[in-house]
Amino acid sequence: MAPKKKIAVMTSGGDSPGMNAAVRAVVRMTIHMGCDAYCVYEGYEGLVQGSNLIRKMEWDDVRGWLSEGGTLIGTARCMAFYERPGRLTAAKNLVLSGIDALIICGGDGSLTGADKFRSEWPSLLKELVSTGELTADQVKDCQHLNIVGLVGSIDNDLAGTDATIGCYSALARICEMVDYIEATASSHSRAFVIEVMGRHCGWLALMAGVATGADFVFIPERPREHDWKEDMHRKIGKRKTIVIVAEGARDKNGTKITAEEIKDLLADKSEGGLALDTRITTLGHVQRGGTAVAYDRMLATLQGVEAVKAVLDATPETETSFIAITENQIVRKPLMKAVAETKKCSEAVDSKDFELAMSLRDSEFEDQWNSYMLTTNVLVNDEILPEESRMKIGFINVGAPAGGMNAAVRAAVAYCLSRGHEPLAIHNGFAGFARHHGDKPMGSVRPFNWLEVDGWASKGGSEIGTNRELPGDSGMELIANLIEEYGLDALFLVGGFEAFHSISQMRKARDQYPSLCIPMCLLPATVSNNVPGTEYSLGSDTCLNELVSYCDKIKQSASATRRRVFVIETQGGRSGYIATLSGLDVGASAVYIPEEGISLEMLNADVQHLKKVFNNDNGQSRAGRLILVNEKASKVYNAKLIADIIREEAHDRFESRESIPGHVQQGGVPSPMDRCRAVRLAIKCIQHLESFGCNAHNHVKKDPNSTTVIGIQGSEVVFTPMKELEETGTDWPNRRPKLAHWMGLSEVVNILGGRPEYPKPE
Ligand code: ATP
Repeated sequence: MAPKKKIAVMTSGGDSPGMNAAVRAVVRMTIHMGCDAYCVYEGYEGLVQGSNLIRKMEWDDVRGWLSEGGTLIGTARCMAFYERPGRLTAAKNLVLSGIDALIICGGDGSLTGADKFRSEWPSLLKELVSTGELTADQVKDCQHLNIVGLVGSIDNDLAGTDATIGCYSALARICEMVDYIEATASSHSRAFVIEVMGRHCGWLALMAGVATGADFVFIPERPREHDWKEDMHRKIGKRKTIVIVAEGARDKNGTKITAEEIKDLLADKSEGGLALDTRITTLGHVQRGGTAVAYDRMLATLQGVEAVKAVLDATPETETSFIAITENQIVRKPLMKAVAETKKCSEAVDSKDFELAMSLRDSEFEDQWNSYMLTTNVLVNDEILPEESRMKIGFINVGAPAGGMNAAVRAAVAYCLSRGHEPLAIHNGFAGFARHHGDKPMGSVRPFNWLEVDGWASKGGSEIGTNRELPGDSGMELIANLIEEYGLDALFLVGGFEAFHSISQMRKARDQYPSLCIPMCLLPATVSNNVPGTEYSLGSDTCLNELVSYCDKIKQSASATRRRVFVIETQGGRSGYIATLSGLDVGASAVYIPEEGISLEMLNADVQHLKKVFNNDNGQSRAGRLILVNEKASKVYNAKLIADIIREEAHDRFESRESIPGHVQQGGVPSPMDRCRAVRLAIKCIQHLESFGCNAHNHVKKDPNSTTVIGIQGSEVVFTPMKELEETGTDWPNRRPKLAHWMGLSEVVNILGGRPEYPKPE
């Protein structure tokens, strides 16, 4: 039998939230694949020092790591590894411990070091043998070192990936702080200059600006076109002012802009000065800290799993790769190309070639910069369209509230105003629209007031009100008449499956009611993430974050009090998306979803497994376990019944309780990811509607693109015609897409949760 492969994982460079999830995933996936798992403690320092800093890991060693911040295996900056002698010792230690492959989670420095190590590997071995440090026999089976990178960095500064492990957690922390600061800024009419991390990369500052609707953002890659001081003089004037500045921000001449300088300008009391009461807040290390948000746990886990697969697939000829994400797709990419592009980007900033710097960032970055500029320059824009091209666009929210709805409406209104369109708010969904007819002077259709809307960037719920009623429920004729009466040229819907159903109804009624022949576009927003045409809907990230923090607390209580299993019921309608993803993010022992149903055999297998793990525990670790069950996974086995069955079977060896978070899952303040994506996608929706122009009735009817859903599919943002989705993509009875893109993740949850093979229901 061939010896077991030995795969080691380490974290290096600055710590970032999610690193522990990556290590857990690598360790468990390695063991699952029949290999031995190792951790190198303290980054490259551990490789150089060897001995007990390189440790074999068992399955249970990484229990509970998903919810821990920082990195539990330590990280260090290691000067010795920069030099060949240090790497020589590291190579010797690796050979002596028999490790075949190394998975490194760190920033561009760590990954550069990793690639250098791999390329030098044959010469390092040769030298070790020639100096007698190792024998030819010892190195015989170690001719190739396999290395795969995971990008762990809060700055999101590596080219070639949309997100790095930790960046969304850092962004969440920043936005939380900005939201707090905003409250005090408004109360005291103060200006705040908030400095965030990012010496070479403005991602955190930019996204924080987009998510919070900050008044000014300064980043390294894209200085303002005009003199920033004059810009500020022109535009400041609100009750509160929030400025977000990245550490490495530059002006158009390439000169650094510091928080102090901005403060001096805002606080200048001389004649003509702004004279604002201004404070600086430097967020510093709080940005790195804390537990990882749901997205980072998911990213780290899936990338950790992919890294192990990449290691096992690799041959000596395989180029060193790292694991990236493009929109929603996990992919392997050549490492050195990404590192070279990252360096090129910093150099471009240094040499003031800002066009090049921007082009080296991913497409989302540029999109978000444009979105940011659009939503903060609403009333001073030179992008205005000629009168005859301006449209009247109705905005409507349909279904339950979801995080990001308001951010989407705000951004779309901003875009409309900057182009000269007339955005109209239809309050309280189709029900509100229908009720308005004929009576009240202040009806449910009203123009937006930008001063009010501007404050919606981080608000939860739905400011224009939402309702589940479909246009067919209110009477299609009435809705068609109202659209005509208001002269709407287009309709922008934000909502979940009901919104999807609404467009479908209106599309089908076009023959009967010509006024429905206007372009309509849906931006999916629902915690259930069950809208056909997209793999992501607004609100689902907020919901996952709520669930993850809920489960973390429950798990802590389950572990602290007694040996206890909590059975948690999640929302999601007939889609198991949030149950599965939160299962992935919290390390659930089992997840029950409607797509699979629940059978007695499954319950039995899971109960037997729980008995086994609690038996093996010997009471040493007070183990808390979580089981997640979607609200509609079974007509009979609900959370309470499952908890009762487990309790009965446990015979007092462990406890079981059910817990139902309910509407908490809709979340309070939407997550930054939901807010940022809301802004980007909403603007794209209005641009899409705009492409039809006004009075498009005649040609719209036959154009399948006139009723669409915007969505993220794999690595792309796409508009899919409703007709196509209705006919081939929708499981109507179950109100979900026919194809659940995330189903493959169930397997990962089961593998990493140690769930036994269980009989699938028929
Ligand atoms: P962060 O994004 O937090 O800065 P990083 O991985 O870029 O993370 P660095 O301090 O640049 O952080 O690198 C971490 C460690 O990686 C260094 O202390 C060093 O041991 C190793 N390293 C970095 N660059 C190289 C290199 N060019 N050659 C060899 N080793 C390197």
